[in-house]
Amino acid sequence: MAVSLQFMGATRNVTGSCFLLEVKGRRFLIDCGLYQERELRSRNWEPFPADPKSIEAVFLTHAHLDHCGLLPKLVKEGFKGKIMCTSATAEIARIVLLDAAHLQEEDAKFKKKRHEREKRKGPYPEVPLYTEEDAKSVFPLFTPVEYEKAVKIIDSVEAVFYDAGHILGSSIIKINVSSGPVSLVFSGDLGRWDKPIIRDPALIEDADYVVVESTYGDRLHEDLSEIKVKLCDIIISTVNQGGNIIIPSFAVERTQELLYYLNELLQENRIPHLLTFVDSPMAINVIEVFKHHPEYFDEEMLNFIQSGRSPFYFSNLKLTRSVEESKAINRIRGSCIIIAGSGMCTGGRIKHHLVNNIIRPECSILFIGYQAKGTLGREIVDGASEVRIHGQMHPVRANVVKINGFSAHADQRELLRWLTGFRSSPKRVFIVHGEEEAATTFARILNEKFSWQTEIPEYLEKKILI
Ligand code: ZN
Repeated sequence: MAVSLQFMGATRNVTGSCFLLEVKGRRFLIDCGLYQERELRSRNWEPFPADPKSIEAVFLTHAHLDHCGLLPKLVKEGFKGKIMCTSATAEIARIVLLDAAHLQEEDAKFKKKRHEREKRKGPYPEVPLYTEEDAKSVFPLFTPVEYEKAVKIIDSVEAVFYDAGHILGSSIIKINVSSGPVSLVFSGDLGRWDKPIIRDPALIEDADYVVVESTYGDRLHEDLSEIKVKLCDIIISTVNQGGNIIIPSFAVERTQELLYYLNELLQENRIPHLLTFVDSPMAINVIEVFKHHPEYFDEEMLNFIQSGRSPFYFSNLKLTRSVEESKAINRIRGSCIIIAGSGMCTGGRIKHHLVNNIIRPECSILFIGYQAKGTLGREIVDGASEVRIHGQMHPVRANVVKINGFSAHADQRELLRWLTGFRSSPKRVFIVHGEEEAATTFARILNEKFSWQTEIPEYLEKKILI
């Protein structure tokens, strides 16, 4: 056995991406993600299936928590190697990991209080999974790589990163092992064609083994062109009624994309110049990363900037960091747009804005992201007549609307488009990062369309490649 691949996460589910590649006994990880599904979260607390001290390097596809969220635990338990990723991934991962650590610490405090009150112990320890200090110990290990430039990790192993078109700095990673030889491509999370700001996913022409995500392997997205039409309609109708537009939004990528569309609508004179607030320190920090990395922008965005415009500066755009500035938004008279986190309304400043606006029939709550079961956002989208926010019930009288086209993930058609880039059939395609149904449907389509050999690995399953 010279080269093997073990599936340590994102197997028949969509979080916890982590794959262990072994080349003649030397070990490498591709991603080290946090589990976010309620029923799988206990895995975050289990010891790593492979000793972190024995791992030489991590290849990180992108900065979403389900791909990088267990790095602080890996380092805490003895990993000392390099974490190879693009510089934008490293910068966004810093923001995302600090935020996650802060939430873990808050969570632990809350658990402790509750256990004391109820005089019982819960299933997880009362200590945070990791602290802000643990998160900071990851940062010196980030080692920046550029797209399409091979990096040699050890004599027999080199990696090449390609643009995945998913979020800023996101990568598809190809690993070439000279013994064999054998090549593997990890899709990471694949983005969509014609998304604003960032480039389209890069096509890869050959690989012996492909590990591909399948989040939307059984679904098609709404067309991107619908986004602006719907945004425009909602803004104009809400302004005509004299209300505010409240938009819960994810801090990474979604908020920046939304600003891009708003800016375009303003340029085209299709919406009025409303005061627009980004009321999220985390989203503002991510905007800063975008501003520093024009090398990741697509041609349209570069043209936009060259003509002296920017989606991140426009008249009446206010980036509010402090709590005082945030509170002051409530005193504004007339219609405004308020973009705040968290994206599913589970915490953050959006809750205050909902308290102030959800009862007003002239206002709109606009959802632009997926709302998971059990979240406040999902309750509102599902049409609850009243919801509990900060311990008090509030009737839902505002207009509740949803735009579905904003996904950062390729849909079934786009996943196939990416896979048709391979000139010859891979020996095998491993389908990961998708619910059972999505992965199975996608595997069936690949068998029918290309007659490729596919597999949907089980948790911890190990494959000997050569
Ligand atoms: Zn992602």
